[in-house]
Amino acid sequence: NSATITPAMLDTLSNKSFPLCMRKLHDTLNSTHHLKHGGRMQYGLFLKAAGLSLQDALHFWRSHFIKNMDADKFDKQYAYSIRHNYGKEGKRTDYSPYSCIKIISGNVGPGDAHGCPFKVTDIPVLRQRLNAYGVSSAVAAEIAELAGKGHYQIACQKYFEATHNTALDVGINHPNQYLEESRKIAA
Ligand code: SF4
Repeated sequence: NSATITPAMLDTLSNKSFPLCMRKLHDTLNSTHHLKHGGRMQYGLFLKAAGLSLQDALHFWRSHFIKNMDADKFDKQYAYSIRHNYGKEGKRTDYSPYSCIKIISGNVGPGDAHGCPFKVTDIPVLRQRLNAYGVSSAVAAEIAELAGKGHYQIACQKYFEATHNTALDVGINHPNQYLEESRKIAA
């Protein structure tokens, strides 16, 4: 992964090039300035793999979280796990970003923003959201039907194709792959 991203790029990138699972986390963070543990892991490791530096990651999460809590609390309770994800604490493992399979098979509880939206969103709500994101009603219905049948990654691919106006010759198996495919087209 040679590309570098900065916090200032994330709003635009989220709208144009993030898969739904990451766009949802980004939007939730923007509106609530908080994500629960599962969301911080899913989104944090994605951003790391996308080229967000540790320093930028600390700055980015801090800027949101301190809208709800003392900076001191953030530094004590959250900064550690961000450094941990970058392999700078604990066992110094270099954590990998989650694949689609891992995200799809993970547990998602009420109030969680993580997970795969094609799996965890009620079908009518999914259709509405796809519509709001610029997918035509007919294609949104087609994607929602795929999602309803459990074909989450194919639904994700159709969403990519609809929003990038192109056909993909590979399936979607990783959110970072989705981002890379999108950035190839945008470049
Ligand atoms: Fe994210 Fe994969 Fe679900 Fe697409 S199929 S929304 S990339 S988890």
